[in-house]
Amino acid sequence: MAPLDVEKIASLAPSPCYVVDMGKVRENLAILDGVQKRSGAKILLAQKGFSMWSVYPTVAATLHGVCASSPWEARLGREEFGGEVHTFAAAFSENDVREVLKTSNHLVFNSFYQLEKFRPLWEGSGLSVGLRVNPEHSEGHTAIYDPCAPKSRLGIRRAEFEGKSLAGVEGLHFHTLCEQLFEPLARTAKAFEEKFGEFLPRMKWLNLGGGHHITREGYDLDGLVELVKYFREKYGVEVYLEPGEAIALGTGVLAGTVLDIVENDGKIAILDISCSCHMPDVLEMPYRPPLYKGFDAGEKEFTYRLAGPSCLAGDVIGDWSFVEELKIGQRIVFLDQAHYTMVKNTTFNGIQLPSIAIFEPESGELKVVRSFSYEDFKNRLS
Ligand SMILES: *Cc1c(COP(=O)(O)O)cnc(C)c1O
Repeated sequence: MAPLDVEKIASLAPSPCYVVDMGKVRENLAILDGVQKRSGAKILLAQKGFSMWSVYPTVAATLHGVCASSPWEARLGREEFGGEVHTFAAAFSENDVREVLKTSNHLVFNSFYQLEKFRPLWEGSGLSVGLRVNPEHSEGHTAIYDPCAPKSRLGIRRAEFEGKSLAGVEGLHFHTLCEQLFEPLARTAKAFEEKFGEFLPRMKWLNLGGGHHITREGYDLDGLVELVKYFREKYGVEVYLEPGEAIALGTGVLAGTVLDIVENDGKIAILDISCSCHMPDVLEMPYRPPLYKGFDAGEKEFTYRLAGPSCLAGDVIGDWSFVEELKIGQRIVFLDQAHYTMVKNTTFNGIQLPSIAIFEPESGELKVVRSFSYEDFKNRLS
């Protein structure tokens, strides 16, 4: 696999800018395609994590469709991706359901109440309807990313199935993982089967959700293939996977610039990248983003705090050290910034949104596919 040409990307990209390398996207798709072909699974792109629709035609050549979390995501998938659109929400309004009926192929409800309330709308509509279940099996990640955490609203627990009608229900869905390798899925699938396996013979499909880091080094692809085949063969169901991150993993960077360097008990480099606006998971998850040519604080001679331009005191991305001193005007490139970034951007403080670009490693060409202006900020307010 060819390394990401960060120097070249940084020399061509405007600032700030998300740049997605199509070579890396194709590498991820090749892995996912192998899983589909060997296992018979259908893989969908979870748009929640990555909705860069200018690359949808490439992704759509391999994957079967998208998963959507709202009527707008469903519509985007229908307009720009094609294929199957699978829509789930923790709760739908009646208007949501009417919209989703126009754009989706699968509709997944999160309660028996919503299933029945909207039955007159979905019955006979041609959509395949399913239920999201909660296998009540946690794989030990942070509570805000754990749909099986106590008091979770996501998924119907087994006890609630007692005495309920499954008439018209064609599939079951669970989504409980986050950035995980195969073993947590294997354990979750076992817990799921113990609780809900008795319903599978009358289902047409089973959706194993997202959170599978299928394209990460070390993922047990053979294990996944066997697991999918097991459910397909034992129960005669179609099996879907709907990862978001796995499609975009390692494909994109966020390239910015050092605007100033100030001193307060150490050097602080102020960037045109705000973690609050442009990489909010740094604060929310929280996590430390990988930085090109950046080392842990104190490891190399020159240590800096990298921080954003906003008024939020906590708009601090983190502390890194460098072999050489940073200079005002130089490029700074955060790695692995394609997923859960563009989709979560805000214009807090009126800070400029990064442009979005595509890099073709073979031709060395960088194409800016979107840049934002003052109007984008103004039009979200009134
Ligand atoms: C978030 C989510 C996904 C995608 O998760 P990734 O971690 O990006 O793979 C898939 N399905 C549902 C229901 C989700 O909420």
